[in-house]
Amino acid sequence: MKRLRILLNTATLLSLLLFIATSVLWIRSYQTRDNWGHDPTRQTVWTLTNGELIAVRIWLPPDSPSAGTRTSRIAPFPERLHGWDLPGLSSKERWLWLDPSRPNGIEFRIQRTITLQLWLITAITSVLPLIWLVRAVRTRSRTRPGCCKHCGYDLRATPARCPECGKQQT
Ligand SMILES: [Zn+2]
Repeated sequence: MKRLRILLNTATLLSLLLFIATSVLWIRSYQTRDNWGHDPTRQTVWTLTNGELIAVRIWLPPDSPSAGTRTSRIAPFPERLHGWDLPGLSSKERWLWLDPSRPNGIEFRIQRTITLQLWLITAITSVLPLIWLVRAVRTRSRTRPGCCKHCGYDLRATPARCPECGKQQT
């Protein structure tokens, strides 16, 4: 039971730190736009903007004859899109056909975009600290002088033992 409490307290503290960090990022994302992974050898680019963390990855299908070569132009059509949406999290995958005038003919790239709404992370990480806060406030209101430490019952008439929950008062 004691180990469980230590575990819970550690989880609450970690959750609180994550909550603060994500809140800072969340506010920052509306003021500026952060990008990582702009190295041309890397194909995944991360962007933090307008409350969203977006990961974009572009690659050639492994069986493509031009896999590994860099292609410069992407034809606007045809394009196919599919994906899914959850509250706070969405994924889009699109096939982008390359310029058919290229000598190796029509080929395509796949682009996957994963968008994570930062409010989802702030909401998830706020759960444990909020529970802790509610419990702390309740404990505080229970430990008012003259009240039972366990249930908060008024003990002015029976200071030694709580008539409500039966706990001895120390
Ligand atoms: Zn009591």
